[in-house]
Amino acid sequence: MADRKSRVYVLYTGGTLGMVPSEPGNPASPLVPADQAKLESYLPKGLVKELGVEYVLESLRDLKGAPVDPIDSSDVTSEHWRYMANAIAKVYEGDEGGPYDGFVILHGTDTMAYTSSALSFMLANLAKPVVITGSQLPIFHPRTDAVSNFVNALCVAGAIGGQPVIPEVILVFAGTVLRGNRVRKMSSSALLGFETPNYPSLGTIGEHIRIASEYLRPATDNTVAPFYARLDLESAVADVSLFPGIQPAQLEAVLLNAGLRGAVLRTYGSGNAPSTPALLKVIEKAVAAGRIIVNITQCPQGMVEAGLYEASSGLLERGVISGLDLTPEA
Ligand code: ASP
Repeated sequence: MADRKSRVYVLYTGGTLGMVPSEPGNPASPLVPADQAKLESYLPKGLVKELGVEYVLESLRDLKGAPVDPIDSSDVTSEHWRYMANAIAKVYEGDEGGPYDGFVILHGTDTMAYTSSALSFMLANLAKPVVITGSQLPIFHPRTDAVSNFVNALCVAGAIGGQPVIPEVILVFAGTVLRGNRVRKMSSSALLGFETPNYPSLGTIGEHIRIASEYLRPATDNTVAPFYARLDLESAVADVSLFPGIQPAQLEAVLLNAGLRGAVLRTYGSGNAPSTPALLKVIEKAVAAGRIIVNITQCPQGMVEAGLYEASSGLLERGVISGLDLTPEA
C-alpha cells in the first residue's frame, strides 16, 4: 500500500493498447480502436488501494468539446495534437475532484514520437509530468504489455513511490522513461519499441522505479511563469529525405510546392548533401521563396555539423538552418 495518494488524468486517443479485432470472435481480423467503455472493461481495478493512485479517464474531444473517435495513430494530424494539448490545458490545475499530479496520454506507437515531440513544444512551462504510453500488443491479448505500460505510466505521472516529479513530456514504455522530443520508434514489434539514441534514458522501471534526476529539465515555477498551451501550429510542412540519385525535379516538386512553409531535409552523415548545382539551385529558390528548411541527419545518432564538409557548406550558404541533433520527428 502506497504512502500517499496521487490523482492522474488519463486521455485516451486510440492505438493498439485499446484495439480489438474488427470481427468479434476472429482474432485474425484487422485491429481497430475500441471505445472508452470497452477499454475500461480491460483496465486493472483497485489501483487506489494497491498503489495509491486514482485516475480519471476521458476520451479525446475537439476544441468545441465534441467527441473524437479513437484512432489508429497512423491517422494522427496536427489537429489531434491541438485537441490533446487543449485537453491537458483544461485540467492542468485540476477539476472538481481536486488537483492532478500528472497526466497520461494513451496513444498508438506508430506516430507516438511525433506526438510526444509536438506536445513537448506545445505545453509550455510544465511543472507536472505528461506521460505518453501505448503498447505493442492489444490489452485483450494474453501477453499484452498494455497493462504494465499503463500502470507504470500512472506511477510515473503520479510520482508514486516517492521518485522525483518529471516536469516534461515523456514516454513510459517497456520499463524505460524517455524524453518525448528525443524519442524514436525503433522496433515495430519488440516490446521495447522506443529509444532516445541521442539522449540518456530518464529512468528505468524494474522492481523499483529509478529516475535519473540529473537528466531532467528543471520544473517551472508556475507562480512566476504560468503553464499555457500553444495551439497554433503550422501544418504546411514536408519531410524530405535525400538519397543517392535524387533528381532536382523531385526536390522541386516538394520544396516549391505552393503553400509549403517549411521542410525537414534529411541529409547524410553530419548534414551533407550532393554538390549537384541544379539540386542546390532548387534549395536556394525554396529559401528565397520563404520556405524554412531545417537540416537533420539521417543517422539515428550524432548531429548536423554544418560546414564541417564542403558537402554541407552548400546548404549553409543557401540559408538552410542546422537542426543540430534534433530528431526528424521533433
Ligand atoms: N497502428 C497502431 C497505432 O499506431 C500501432 C500501435 O499502437 O502500436 O495506433
